[in-house]
Amino acid sequence: LTILGIETSCDETAAAVLEIDQDGKCVILSNVVHSQIDEHTPFGGVVPEIAARAHIQLLDGIVDQAMKTANVKYSDLSAVAATAGPGLIGGVIVGLMTAKSIAMAIDKPLIAVNHLEGHALTARMTDQVEFPFLLLLVSGGHTQYLLVKALGEYERLGTTIDDAIGEAFDKTAKLLGLPYPGGPAVEKAAKLGDPTVYKLPRPLLDRPGLDMSFAGLKTAVRTAALKEEPVSEQTVNNLCASFQEAVADVVGKRSARAFEMFKERYPDTPPKMVIAGGVAANEAIRIRLNEVAAEHSAKLIAPPHKLCTDNAAMIAWAGAERLRKLVAEDPSILEQNGKGDDMNEAPRPRWPLDKLSESVVGFGR
Ligand code: ATP
Ligand code: MG
Ligand code: FE
Repeated sequence: LTILGIETSCDETAAAVLEIDQDGKCVILSNVVHSQIDEHTPFGGVVPEIAARAHIQLLDGIVDQAMKTANVKYSDLSAVAATAGPGLIGGVIVGLMTAKSIAMAIDKPLIAVNHLEGHALTARMTDQVEFPFLLLLVSGGHTQYLLVKALGEYERLGTTIDDAIGEAFDKTAKLLGLPYPGGPAVEKAAKLGDPTVYKLPRPLLDRPGLDMSFAGLKTAVRTAALKEEPVSEQTVNNLCASFQEAVADVVGKRSARAFEMFKERYPDTPPKMVIAGGVAANEAIRIRLNEVAAEHSAKLIAPPHKLCTDNAAMIAWAGAERLRKLVAEDPSILEQNGKGDDMNEAPRPRWPLDKLSESVVGFGR
């Protein structure tokens, strides 16, 4: 199978081509990601309308580049996969409609992929990761624990009730005068700071389950900074170190509980946890997770950074996994354009993974 994937749900315009055999062995023929960071930096965060316009301007060229790099003709494609949600709706519309047009033109199936499912299955593209496993998704828009039971079977075990961790890093950076994106900037400052200077809160940790909260943490940083006006560079470093320490603490304790929950569900399976999302690049958080995993005899799997942040290879892969299953049941699916595919699926801003099979129809052929 040769699959073109398209991703436009946030601030990356991305296209990729994968070659997958029926056993699931995968070669990434191309993986083009254009980050719109420069467009959004002046505003200190992603501006939805600017993102949507940028996707319109960029996507044709990015798809072209992905196809050329892969050295694949449109007629060679077996299917087209695109993110259909969740995400910023303007961008999702651009990507899904482009994918539908290509699928229609070459008369091949269109696969509407849930962006979160893309993150959830990425590790299976690069490593031999058998179901079931835990997924910790930590990005700018999401912070959640998922139980990945089987293809298409996901259960959300816990989530942030307010800010995502990446968002908390970005907001903390902004209020301390550090550049966007905040994650790398805060991590760099934290290396020069003392994490014991400020006692920041660890919200919700006393509650059962796996829910988390990070909005209060960011507010606590603001309150501490206001008390110290004017804020010196050392204060910024100490605040960043204390903030990062608090986040690592929360994620470490929650992950310990996630491993316990996994062991209760699957007493005979050694626990595994895949980490994905931009925040997974954070060294302090990674070190903490590795410690916790070791304490629980669990395996921690971190796919290469380029595949952990938003990209189209993961969307093509999620589409491929689904398509492989369908083809195994009925090989004629590849010829049945318009019958078995997702051409009628609508772009959607919200699409929880546990409601994956709920079809939303609109903008069809
Ligand atoms: P989503 O994938 O949820 O749609 P997104 O595009 O914001 O949203 P990613 O591209 O996966 O997500 O990750 C970007 C986020 O990761 C930003 O919030 C950024 O600050 C954060 N981040 C990147 N590097 C680090 C780091 N070293 N430490 C902490 N956070 C980081
Ligand atoms: Mg992004
Ligand atoms: Fe993402």
